[in-house]
Amino acid sequence: MADWEPVIGLEVHAHLKTRTKMFCRCALEYGAGENTHTCPVCLAHPGALPVPNERAIEYTIKLGVALDCEIAEHAVFARKNYFYPDLPKGYQISQYEQPLCGRGRLVVPTADGEEEVGIVRAHLEEDAAKTVHAGGATGRSVGATSSLVDFNRGGTPLLEIVTAPDLRSADQALRFLRLLRQTIVELGVSDAEMEKGTLRADVNVSVRERGEEGFRPRWEIKNMNSFTFIGRAIEAAIRQQVAAHEADETLEQSTYDYDPDTDRLTVHRSKEEAEDYRYFPEPDLVPVEPPAELVERLRGGLPELPAARIRRLEPLVGFAQASELVATGNDRKAELLAAEGVDWRASANVAMNRGDFLPENAGALAAIIRANVTREALDEAFAKAATEPIDADDYLARAAVGDEAALEPVIASVLAANPGQVETYRGGKEGILGFFVGQVMRETGGKADPKVVSRMLRERLRLSRN
Ligand SMILES: [Zn+2]
Repeated sequence: MADWEPVIGLEVHAHLKTRTKMFCRCALEYGAGENTHTCPVCLAHPGALPVPNERAIEYTIKLGVALDCEIAEHAVFARKNYFYPDLPKGYQISQYEQPLCGRGRLVVPTADGEEEVGIVRAHLEEDAAKTVHAGGATGRSVGATSSLVDFNRGGTPLLEIVTAPDLRSADQALRFLRLLRQTIVELGVSDAEMEKGTLRADVNVSVRERGEEGFRPRWEIKNMNSFTFIGRAIEAAIRQQVAAHEADETLEQSTYDYDPDTDRLTVHRSKEEAEDYRYFPEPDLVPVEPPAELVERLRGGLPELPAARIRRLEPLVGFAQASELVATGNDRKAELLAAEGVDWRASANVAMNRGDFLPENAGALAAIIRANVTREALDEAFAKAATEPIDADDYLARAAVGDEAALEPVIASVLAANPGQVETYRGGKEGILGFFVGQVMRETGGKADPKVVSRMLRERLRLSRN
């Protein structure tokens, strides 16, 4: 049987977080009443003229420099012609031959090295309006009794990032997509929230025999808005294509839908013709020529990006925890505590397991953590530290009970009350230790020091085994 190599590329769309739309002054507001943010430009009234949003252009360049893209000296808006009820102009203003951002790359850190993914281009366009299908149980056009159009979304600035077909597995595609999302969010150019539809991805998948040159027909899965389903859809496409190639079936290059219920892809049922969008330069807009000073200012103002932070934290807490901290945005909390003298592992654990706190409270929290206070005191300190300044002295007196003589009778009674669990532990299931720790914590009203309790429990359970 042949050794098949998946070839995957992504087209990622992110709604830019500007105050107004791409070519008019209508406000962008997620969740506003239907058709409350419209005007002659975004409703495509005859004679209405577009005016580009300067901030959207800046945001696109900002992402472009973060992705090491070549920034165009001369970029051109183009009309992409097609008909759809949610596109009243009959064309979308996009960029085609001369996008704002050309070749670039994103380097994804992994435990064993780096995965470099080429960026083919990143361009700016306007989103279409939103069609809402009513009357059907599924919310899809099939089975709906009517379809309504909400023009609030029409004209939202949309950044499209196209990768090279450099990805080789669903996991790799997801790693890339998560890092790209995190980068976009940290740059402040988009909320990039899949569940709100402000981040969507089209996925292109084909397979070829390892070592084979060139590409076989690819399947495009459009408008995916869940990391889980993107991963599953890629795996389903690989499975189905390998089966088809091995059965010597001819594959067609086409658009597919992923059905989570059957975990299979089926050919998209609409009758879209071959992609003949008859692109031509938008005659109502002049080309964009970003000044070199602007590009340099944006490049110079880039924050430390997530990939670099993962690499910087890796020696302190290991790769897995460094990625987790950065992916959840908890690394800054951990850094604040570490800077106040809490050791890095403890800082990372606290940052991952506790809520946000005001940066000015880092010193007091660090003192409280180091003093090993009761869990209850720590809970109270963190709850308050989220919204107001705290004083460490209010908590430091509430040290956790680590006195073995005081804990001994509690531990003895917990062990005596749970002979079954003691047997289970003795039988080798040492993971059940947490159960005993929990019981002791409950008996002591959360005042026991869990580290001391764990150690004592382990000793007593070992003794009872002998
Ligand atoms: Zn408008």
